[in-house]
This record gives sequence, structure tokens and C-alpha cells, in this order.
Amino acid sequence: MNFHEYQAKDLFAQYNIPIPRGQVARTPEEAVAAAESLECDMWVVKAQVHAGGRGKAGGVKLAKTLAEVKQYATDMLGMKIQTYQTGGLALPVNEVLITEAADIEQEIYLSLLVDRASKCLSFVASAEGGVEIEEVARTNPEKIHTIKIDNTEGLFPYACRKAGFAMGLNGKQVRQLTHIMMQMYQMFIDLDLSLIEVNPLIIDDQKNVVALDAKINSDDNADFRHPQLADLRDITQEDPAEAKAHEHDLNYIKLEGNIACMVNGAGLAMATMDVIKLKGGDPANFLDVGGGATAERVAIAFKIILSDPNVESILVNIFGGIVRCDLIADGIISAIKEVGVKVPIVVRLEGTNVEAGKKILDESGLAVIAADNLDDAANKAVAAVGAQS
Ligand code: GDP
Ligand code: MN
Repeated sequence: MNFHEYQAKDLFAQYNIPIPRGQVARTPEEAVAAAESLECDMWVVKAQVHAGGRGKAGGVKLAKTLAEVKQYATDMLGMKIQTYQTGGLALPVNEVLITEAADIEQEIYLSLLVDRASKCLSFVASAEGGVEIEEVARTNPEKIHTIKIDNTEGLFPYACRKAGFAMGLNGKQVRQLTHIMMQMYQMFIDLDLSLIEVNPLIIDDQKNVVALDAKINSDDNADFRHPQLADLRDITQEDPAEAKAHEHDLNYIKLEGNIACMVNGAGLAMATMDVIKLKGGDPANFLDVGGGATAERVAIAFKIILSDPNVESILVNIFGGIVRCDLIADGIISAIKEVGVKVPIVVRLEGTNVEAGKKILDESGLAVIAADNLDDAANKAVAAVGAQS
């Protein structure tokens, strides 16, 4: 799950990570009131959307007067922002963050993430912050410092100091950086996060290290342990189909292709997408309806799948282990009748009561294409797309 910058900064403040003072606003009037209460002579108006790259998209503005604060807030509130990080979506701006403007001497990049290749958490730091870090990694890989954290020993201050000195910080700044990194690590563990990114972490005109921007992601699987985080969810920032799926505990991720998949089990869903690719097709989504796939959940899953206008055929691949195939067949039929599916549906059932399930589909009178195995199913789903276009 993603968070807004102001939400991430609230968490930073709770962990004593220095941030510029700021206040969130939902109207231009609130923005002016927020600016006044900050009692400074320059402000930054920042559009709150679930993506970075706002600066380049007109979502970060420096204001020198209260009138400018009001103007920028008016411009931003209600606009939609699309950046290289929004995954093709244009995200609505419902809130702006008003902060005191900092004087920037240097911009540093600092993130803490799950380093899958090394099977541990790693900090990534670079004295070349403020820009796209991917670009630095490409052109000047030696300027990227990676600090791997041993899973049992945790993070030691010396590792932070080493990174700070390597980036050319002075003694005082290295101490501040060490504090920030130790606190970030603690926060990451406490809150089951999957990413904390500070770009830029700045050195201000007082030569202090401050988090100017803040982005965090948390692991949805740990939502139940952190109701205070789950409450911060902002579904206006999410793909509507993905948000609906989340509401029903379905794991759905929209993709670019035209063959929709409905599968039970994440591993089987991955395998199904692989086989579709192998047969020259392109999956429209990842969808795991889970072990307890009921008729109702199958119907919701169909609706979500079909909300994607690119879908030209559907491949249902269900293994009846915990669920019975005859129940799934009933679910598929009632879902088709309820939702009114107009694209070809290829169904592959296997497992408990498979014969009864196939019989139900055969006798339904609906245009369901039965498949004998996954290979056959993928061939038929790919052919169904070809036959249409
Ligand atoms: P992002 O573009 O979405 O990542 O938003 P950021 O919060 O990182 O802001 C983008 C850029 O705006 C930063 O890299 C800074 O160069 C600039 N910026 C943001 N806040 C301030 C500030 O308080 N003072 C100054 N001088 N520049 C700022
Ligand atoms: Mn940023």
C-alpha cells in the first residue's frame, strides 16, 4: 500500500526524523491558513498524489507570497497529475501539503528497501540526489552506495557513518545521517514497510540534514497488524479495478494484454500467465481468487476482469483442492448470467469433483469452451482472441 507524502512525514516526525514544518490543506483557504500558521516568508505548495516526479509535472511550486500560495493551491487542487511513476494513471489532487521552504545546499538520495537479490534490507544512498536515481545508477554507478543489513544482527551505526563519509558529509552531518538511518530502519521494521525513499534528503543552509520528500510503501499482508496504517489508505489514488479487488480480498493486478485470467492460487496464476505468453498471447491481468473461491467471489472477479475494455477472451483455470469443481462451475454459470459476459470463456477445471463440474458447464447451454488441461486452455484462449479480431 502507498501513502501520501504528508502521511509519510507524519510518521517520520513520530520517529524523530527531521522534516520541514508543514500542514495539509484541502481547499485554497485552508492552504492560506496553513501558510500563515507556519510563520515563514517562503512556502512550498506540494500536490499530494501517490507518485514522485511531481516537480516536473507542475505539482511542486515555490511561493513567495500568500497570494501565490493561494494561486498554486487553486491550480493544483482538482487537477490530475500523470508522471513517469503513475503507471499510466492520471492521479487526482485532493490535498496539497504546504511546507516552509528550505534553502537547499545539497540534495542526497536515501532509500531503504527489500533487496530481494541479497535476501536482506538494504539502504541505497547517493550524494547525487534530487534527480532520477535510475539515471545516476546508469551513468555513474560508483556514486551509488549500497548498505546491506544483516537480518539477524540488524543495522549498526558504523555502517551508516561509513556511508556518510563516503558521500563527503562532515562529522555533524554524518551523526545526523546516522540518526536518520537508524530511525528509518526501526520504522521499517515496526511498521512492516516495503520501501522508504527520501529524495531528496537535503543539507540546508544551517548545514543540517533534513528529509525534504518522503515516500513509503507498506506490505499489505501486514495490514491487520497496523490498523492505523490501513486507515490512511486513499483509494482515489488507486486503479479502480485494483481497489475493488482489494475490497473483496482478491489479488488483482491489471496488465497490458487482452486475455483475462481467473485462477485460484498465486503460483498457478503465474504459471497460467507464463503459458499464455508461451502460446503467443498476452495476459490482461493477474488474478488470484484464493483458495476459498465461492460463487459470489467468482462473480465479483468476473466483473473486475470485464471492467478492463481490452479483454477479448477469458481463461478460467481452477484447481479444485480446497474448493470443489462443481461449486466453481455453478459459480461460473451464475456469474456469466449475472454479469452478461460477451467474450469467449475458456474453462479448465481439475481436481475434486471435476467430472461433475464439467457436466454442469456442458449442460448449461452457455458458450463456455471446455479445456482438458492448461496447455489446451491457453491454446484455446489465444485462438479465441484471434478468431474475434
Ligand atoms: P517529487 O518531484 O515528486 O519527487 O517532489 P519533491 O518533494 O522531491 O520536490 C521536487 C523538487 O522540488 C526537489 O528536488 C527540490 O529541488 C524542489 N523543492 C522541493 N521542496 C523545496 C524547498 O523547500 N525549497 C527549495 N528550494 N526547493 C524545493
Ligand atoms: Mn522527490
